[in-house]
Amino acid sequence: MQKIFFYLAGLLCLSSMGCSLPGESARPAASAVPLEQIRKSADAQTGDMLKFLSKSIQYQSVEDFGYQLKPATEALMQYALNTGATMGFKTRRAAKGLVGVLEYGEGEESVGVLIHLDVVPVSDEELPQWTHPPFSGTITGDEVWGRGAQDDKGALASVLWAAKYLIDNKASFKRKLVIILGTKEEKSFEDLVEYFNEFPQKEFGPTFGFVPDGAYISQGEKGIADVDITFTGLSASPLQRDNIVDWRGGTAINTVADFSYLVIKSRDVEKTRAELSGLIRQLSDELKSGVSSRIYGLTKAYQANLGLQDYQAFVDQYAPEGLPKGDLVVFSKGVAAHGSAPWMGKNALVEVALLGDRMSCVPDNAYKQAFQWITSKIGLSTDGSGLGIPFTASAKLPSAPQGMSPVAYLGTSANLGLVSVNAHDDRLRLSIDFRTGFENTNDQIITHAQESAAQFHGTAAYQAGVGSHYEPFYYTTDEPLLDLMINAYKTVNTGYPAETPYVFMTPATTYLKLVTNFVNFGPVDLYPDFYANYFHEKNERTTIKSLVNNSILYAYTLQKMLQMDKAPVR
Ligand SMILES: [Zn+2]
Repeated sequence: MQKIFFYLAGLLCLSSMGCSLPGESARPAASAVPLEQIRKSADAQTGDMLKFLSKSIQYQSVEDFGYQLKPATEALMQYALNTGATMGFKTRRAAKGLVGVLEYGEGEESVGVLIHLDVVPVSDEELPQWTHPPFSGTITGDEVWGRGAQDDKGALASVLWAAKYLIDNKASFKRKLVIILGTKEEKSFEDLVEYFNEFPQKEFGPTFGFVPDGAYISQGEKGIADVDITFTGLSASPLQRDNIVDWRGGTAINTVADFSYLVIKSRDVEKTRAELSGLIRQLSDELKSGVSSRIYGLTKAYQANLGLQDYQAFVDQYAPEGLPKGDLVVFSKGVAAHGSAPWMGKNALVEVALLGDRMSCVPDNAYKQAFQWITSKIGLSTDGSGLGIPFTASAKLPSAPQGMSPVAYLGTSANLGLVSVNAHDDRLRLSIDFRTGFENTNDQIITHAQESAAQFHGTAAYQAGVGSHYEPFYYTTDEPLLDLMINAYKTVNTGYPAETPYVFMTPATTYLKLVTNFVNFGPVDLYPDFYANYFHEKNERTTIKSLVNNSILYAYTLQKMLQMDKAPVR
């Protein structure tokens, strides 16, 4: 699934959300383990927890879409369940083996923790840049290194040991503890979608809980809608001088395309070359001027990066597979960024489309219609406003942190991530990653996508498969569950500055989307290192200190959740 990426520097809300700190006002149950005892247990067991995390990282649990598990993920699942069993958990598998469940205690109600075992891959370009090999689980003096050290194997280690401190110290609970281990979080949530189909939360629980898959503390997540816009009819015209024979670009729907190119066949190559060279200049100048009556969303000077090459020179340089024969290639080099923050990148697909829109001697086919749609509905905008998606921010939403625009923080974002041309089906498809704003709905997104595409003879639909769209979700400031998490964080983290914990809105999509009465809670602590989030990045790592602190905080929080009289549910 299109995952996270916090670029938190821009996203943090330092407001204390009006949450006063009641401290230890609730009378602890008789068998509560004092915080000091939890800390002692953590000290004594740090070595074991580190060994577990290091070994977990060594399983290369990179998954594919679908309902099969890779052997490494299966082995990690068994390792995690066996470890849990030695701690006192009952274990079982569910969702056709995609999910592992660890249960402790009994009760009508249950407290859940949702964790994923799968990790994102390490690309060939990234690999040499790792200080320690990404699947080595190297432990240095004060850190554990490797893919998953934070996301989400670090969280797994801290949660398991948190439970162990409580079990070892003979805490007794009013509720059952259920740790649910998924395996397809970085794909399409096939795992937990299947699990909650089998065991609907309303009927089987968990009653409430947390998802440790981000930074402390997320107040809400934007929605997501992966939408395909399809234009049909790729035919060339013998009456036209130029015909486009292919268009490529983008690496993933949730990434801003940093490279895109059009292959053009011409009946008069020199004339076409002259036209394209002129158009590149004209378009670049217009973009640089920051003013255009034709391009939607051009509100300030923009530096394009377009180029033109002979077909053979392009093929020699880039060696694209199976590229249809042409005469000239127009290309753009953009800047990649995460699709949930498209304003941080420069979209090469858009640049190529803006140029294609101006070509005068091409047929009016799917290419042309796609270019026109992009030029007039997307252009340089990244908020879907060109499609008619409205932005509002009512008073109940938190205000954007300093330096960040309200629409970026709270509104919808749109990233044109991919183009795919399918000659066999005679169609061209644009794939857009919408992050649904807190006051928008996916109905609005799809309706406006359909209406705007129809103006250019296109159609719009959610992408096929599970996990293509989820509604946005957030807590208001006076929610008992969010308050519980904030208070737990503050109680455990004594000596932190008064403005922590950081409560913020995120464009991420996590397992939180599949459940109610859950909060995304850690494992990344932005104090004292504001830039400590390495999710999906090279050199992912966690400090041992943070790992241990997480285990203490999780133990404290879980104990509260398991012992409190009334569940803080909506
Ligand atoms: Zn994750």
